[in-house]
Amino acid sequence: MNQLSKETIHQVVQGFDIIEFISEFVPLAKAGKEFKGLCPFHSEKTPSFTVSSEKQLYYCFGCGSGGNIISFLMKYENCSFVEAIESLAQRKGIKLPEENSTVPQDSKWKEKEAIIQINGMAARYYHDLLMKSPAGKSAQRYLESRGVTSQTMEEFCLGYSKNSWKDLLLFFQKKNVSLDEALDAGVASHRQERNEGYDRFRGRIIFPIYSPDGQIIALGGRKIEDESLGPKYMNSSETLVYSKSNSLYGLYQAKQFIRKCGFAIVVEGYLDFHSLYQAGIRNVVATLGTSLTQGHVKLLERYTKKVVFIYDADQAGISATLRGLDIFQQENREVHVVMLPSGHDPDSFIRTFGPEELNKRIDHSTPAVEFLINQSIQRNTTSTVEGKVKATKEILLILSKVFDPLVRMEYVKLVAKLLDMHEEIILDQLQGRIQESRHASQRSSLGGARVSPLKNVRGNGNVTVLDAIQVAERMLIGLICRGDVSMEDVIAKSILDHDFQSEPMREIAETAFSLWREKRRMMPEELIFALKDEKLRGIVSGFLFEEMDHGDINKEFQDYVTKIKSRELIKKLHYLQNEIKSRPHNDPQINMLLKEYSEIKKKITIS
Ligand SMILES: [Zn+2]
Repeated sequence: MNQLSKETIHQVVQGFDIIEFISEFVPLAKAGKEFKGLCPFHSEKTPSFTVSSEKQLYYCFGCGSGGNIISFLMKYENCSFVEAIESLAQRKGIKLPEENSTVPQDSKWKEKEAIIQINGMAARYYHDLLMKSPAGKSAQRYLESRGVTSQTMEEFCLGYSKNSWKDLLLFFQKKNVSLDEALDAGVASHRQERNEGYDRFRGRIIFPIYSPDGQIIALGGRKIEDESLGPKYMNSSETLVYSKSNSLYGLYQAKQFIRKCGFAIVVEGYLDFHSLYQAGIRNVVATLGTSLTQGHVKLLERYTKKVVFIYDADQAGISATLRGLDIFQQENREVHVVMLPSGHDPDSFIRTFGPEELNKRIDHSTPAVEFLINQSIQRNTTSTVEGKVKATKEILLILSKVFDPLVRMEYVKLVAKLLDMHEEIILDQLQGRIQESRHASQRSSLGGARVSPLKNVRGNGNVTVLDAIQVAERMLIGLICRGDVSMEDVIAKSILDHDFQSEPMREIAETAFSLWREKRRMMPEELIFALKDEKLRGIVSGFLFEEMDHGDINKEFQDYVTKIKSRELIKKLHYLQNEIKSRPHNDPQINMLLKEYSEIKKKITIS
C-alpha cells in the first residue's frame, strides 16, 4: 500500500459498486437489505456469502472470509494488493502513474520478473518448434497419437525441444539473454568440469507451467519414447518463482471450473491432465511428478476444500493417497478416490470407456478413508488372527487421522462390521491412539511455548475468568467497529491497545489505535484497508455484519471494560500468591498480604 499513493487508491476504488462487481464472479440474489450467494471461497449448498451495498463489504457466515472489493479480488484472483488495484484500474481504464504501478515489493522483484520473462521466451520458442519446424513434426505426431489436439497445443502453448545441447542457448544468445540468466530461470544446466552451459530440455515435449494468474513460471518436459535419455518427466530447476511442491499443472486454466464444480480432480501426469481436460472434465490439475504436498493443498484451498484423486491401480498410487490423506484430513477437508481398473491410466480409460464412464466414477468416488480401509483389508488376510491384527493396526492409524469425531464413529461401525469385531474394542484402541498422539503434540508444543505470567494462574480455577476476558476483548472490538462506542469513550476508560492481549484481537486493536492516533478517527472501512492479514479483515467484516440486539450498550461497555481490567488484578493476585508462599509463616506482613489477596479475589469473582 505504501507504494501507491492514497489518492491513487481512492481514485481507483471510488465508483465501483460492490454488488455489481462481485456479481461478475458470484451470482447474487437480494435477501432483505443484503445480497446473498454461494460462497466462492468454500464449498456450500445454501448461500451464506453476504454482500452489503450499504456497507460496501462482503462477509461469509460459513467460512469467515470478508472485506471490501479489494480484499475480494485479492482472494479470488489470488493476487497482491497492488495487483488488485492494478486490475481494478484496468477495468476502469485508468492508467496508474508509472512510478507507482510497477512496485518492487521485495528486493527480488526484478529477478523474478526476469525469470518469468525468460521462461515465456523459452516456451514460445519451443512452441514454434513444435508447430512450425520440420523437427517438430515427429513430436506433433507423438502428441496426436496420445490424443492431444492441435487446439490444446495452442491453448497450453505446448512445445518441443530438439535433441540438442545448445539449441535454446543459441537462440538466447541472439536475443541477448546470458547463460547466467538462463541458469537462474531454470531452463539451462551447467557442466562444472568444462565450465559450460547446455540446454536442460533435450528431445522432450514441453509443457509450460503457469502460475495461478497465468504467467509461465517454469517448463515441464516429458520424454518422447526413445528420443532422449533421462527420466520420463523433468521440470525446470527450482527458481525464485517456481518450486515443484508449490505448483500444479493446469491450475490456471482449470481454476474457474474447480470453483464451478466445487471440487478439484488431481491426476499425476501432463497427458492424464490433457485427456481429462479435452474430454470436458476441466476441473482437473496434475502434480508435477510428486505426490500431493502441503503447498499444493494450500494452493487448491483457494478454490475448493474437496479433492478427488484419480489413481492407477498400483501400489505407488495407494501410498500417495495415504500421504495426501494425511494433509487433507486436517481442517475438515474432503478427499475422495477413484481407482481405475488394473492396466488403465486416465487416458486409456477415457479412450476405452469414454468420458461419461469416468464422470460416473467421479460422481461415485469413494471417501479416501473408506478406500484405505478397504485396501488394508484386501491386503491382509483377515481370516487369520495375524492378518486381522495387522489390518486393525493399519486401520487405527488411518482412523486416528480423521478430524471429525462423528465421522470417525461412523467408520468405527463400518470397520467393526468388516472385521467382525466389537465396536467397543476398536473404539477403545482408537481412543488410546488418539490420546497418545495428542500427548505427543502437546509435549512438542509446550517446548516452544512462551510462558506468560497469566498462564500460571490457570491452575487456580481462574480459567473461566481468562476466557471471559477474551470474550470481552472480542465484544469490545465489535462495539468499536460498529461505532457503538467511540475510540474516545474507550480511551476515557483508560483502555488502550496493550490491554488487548488475546490474538487476534490484539492485532486488530493495535491497528485501530494507530489509525486513531494518526487521524483522530477510526472508520471501519479504513481499518479493513489497514489490516494486512486476510483473516483479520474477515473478522472485522464479520463484526459489521453481526446483527446485535442491544439492550443497554453503556452497561455492556462497562462490563467489558471491567473484565478486561481484571487482567491486571489477576497479575496482582499471582504476585501476592508468590509473596505469601515465599515468606516464613511468622512473617508479620503475611496477614496484610492475605487480606489484600482475598479482596482482589472477591473483585475478580464479582466481575
Ligand atoms: Zn465462505
